[in-house]
Amino acid sequence: MIFDSTPIVAGNWKMNKTDSETIALIKSLKEDLENVQALSIIFPPFISLLSANKELQNSTIKLGAQNIHFEESGQFTGEISAKMLVNICEYVIIGHSERRQFFNESNTVINKKLKSAIKNGLKPILCIGESLEEKSAGLSAKILEKQLIKGLDGITNSKDLIIAYEPVWAIGTGEAANPEEISLTIKNTIHTTLASINLNHPIIPILYGGSVNPSNTASFMNYSEINGVLVGSASLKDKDFIEIAKIASQS
Ligand code: PEP
Repeated sequence: MIFDSTPIVAGNWKMNKTDSETIALIKSLKEDLENVQALSIIFPPFISLLSANKELQNSTIKLGAQNIHFEESGQFTGEISAKMLVNICEYVIIGHSERRQFFNESNTVINKKLKSAIKNGLKPILCIGESLEEKSAGLSAKILEKQLIKGLDGITNSKDLIIAYEPVWAIGTGEAANPEEISLTIKNTIHTTLASINLNHPIIPILYGGSVNPSNTASFMNYSEINGVLVGSASLKDKDFIEIAKIASQS
């Protein structure tokens, strides 16, 4: 199966929105998102996944979690496992740069989380991306290769895998990356690395993430290497996220 090219628009809400605010935002997104030709996935905080799931019954909008622990159960106070989420949501973000940076998640831990997600039937979005220091030192390709090779070690089934390329310096800064550079990095580094580890890259959608907004979405989606966007801040504003989904669906 070749990636069917349906654009993906994913909204990472991070640590924002109370339960009632989550429901209110879903209500205001619902009708418009259900009528665009893009796959929309939202990632509210854990606490609201159950009520979001209820609100999204019979909706085309998909639901995901922002993180999981790699074990299925045990003495891990405050953690949530893939096994607990399977009937509540379909997707999970793994290895977001904020998890790597603030919670010291290594490629090894991220690999375990990916395996647990796949084993339990959750569809993972693996986030990769280099920091500004790494980019300035000319290490971008090396870092991305390492994150892919270690993160995907032992994973042979790429059917439900999505990769989000999010340069760390472009996240939450309002400074999106250059779309042409992103498309070249996807082609020359991400696709090449995936092929080298025998993961069939044409079926793996690659998203761009980092300060995506309604004004720059088209400039990314114009490149065939970019199959969708992972959106942080702009996914918290109904009008912006709807606009991004509409623009992405026209690409
Ligand atoms: C993100 O957190 O994945 C992200 C891309 O954030 P923002 O759109 O705010 O840069």
